[in-house]
Amino acid sequence: MTSISTLLPTYATVNLAALAHNLSRIKRYLSPGCEVMAIVKANAYGHGAVEIAQSLARQNIGQFAVASLDEGIALRQAGLSESIVVLGALFEEQIPDLIAHRLTPVVSDGPILPTLAKAALSHPAPYPIHLKVETGMGRLGFSPEELLAVLDNPLLLSHLQVEGMMTHLADADGSDSDYTERQIAAFQALLEQMRQRGFTIPLVHAANSAAIVRFPHAHFSLVRPGIMLYGYHTLPATIPDPDLRPVLSLRTTVAQLRTIPQGATVSYNKTFTAKRQTRIAVLPIGYADGYSRRLSHRGSVLIQGRRAPIAGLVCMDMIMVDVTDIASVQVGETVTLIGRQGQESIWADEVADWIGTIPYEVLCGIGSRVPRLYESAARDARNP
Ligand SMILES: *Cc1c(COP(=O)(O)O)cnc(C)c1O
Repeated sequence: MTSISTLLPTYATVNLAALAHNLSRIKRYLSPGCEVMAIVKANAYGHGAVEIAQSLARQNIGQFAVASLDEGIALRQAGLSESIVVLGALFEEQIPDLIAHRLTPVVSDGPILPTLAKAALSHPAPYPIHLKVETGMGRLGFSPEELLAVLDNPLLLSHLQVEGMMTHLADADGSDSDYTERQIAAFQALLEQMRQRGFTIPLVHAANSAAIVRFPHAHFSLVRPGIMLYGYHTLPATIPDPDLRPVLSLRTTVAQLRTIPQGATVSYNKTFTAKRQTRIAVLPIGYADGYSRRLSHRGSVLIQGRRAPIAGLVCMDMIMVDVTDIASVQVGETVTLIGRQGQESIWADEVADWIGTIPYEVLCGIGSRVPRLYESAARDARNP
């Protein structure tokens, strides 16, 4: 039960077999002809964008999406040649780099079009762009009226090609489907108006993970799964389980053990007082690694397949856990913060529940100093 190496006491393992399983589960919901645009923004939700994208590209995924220009450039520099859409806000100053790296912009307002069209002149064929329509997310996008007006812009026809049309659903994982149905209907109405004007758009996309499961009529030609690729969902309990496998496990190693007397305190500001003689294990992971300070007094970790509660405040680089009830813990022993150990498991959705957030935030918060180790063994992360 020692760590893979005390040279690397704190690390995340990323199981690429689980990723492949989740992709195949997602594909089961799709009609023939509908493709996957894999969402690898935020370092692939903390899993490592380059390795995740490369693994998915080997499984014939031809479309990727990131949030920012920098994220797209990093994937290009790693050699990814597939289409990469930049979903987030685009600033005029970023356009030369965007085009130099053959990244596909999502355009959400008119004023940027002339700059984009001019920069695209350096590119031989009309440059592909996706247009985003705002149907109820209250975030980026043209209103349907603005979008129809923009289509009359001659620049669009000469230098740019409207390769894609998209919208984003605000409540696809909500308990009531009415709002989502209205968003889908508004999007379909706009697509119909475009069709009447003679536009054929090759790539139409609206569905995030939850909509893939719940709203098949929102699949169009592409779907945009993020969280389900990584093994989680936020669907209402009434929806049949999509059978996903968490991809990432987070582990650390016992660095020191100490027995403290009743009445002694642990960590900053003395917020933990030992009610009895207590055995404390010191672990080299803290909020700088993305292990939230809000987990203080709330979280637990697994040691020898048993839960050990966090004692006192989470520090920047360390936490302390109470191992009094776990016999014979040793320095060098592996500790699981997210993942399975023996018969017990703690997954990112449980960690999220402890601190009132969603698994997305727990995963993408895992810090850059935590090395990611990739494994492709075809074993079930829930049942190693
Ligand atoms: C992040 C994001 C997604 C993926 O959402 P999931 O809920 O993780 O599937 C899809 N579309 C857009 C525009 C996004 O920003």
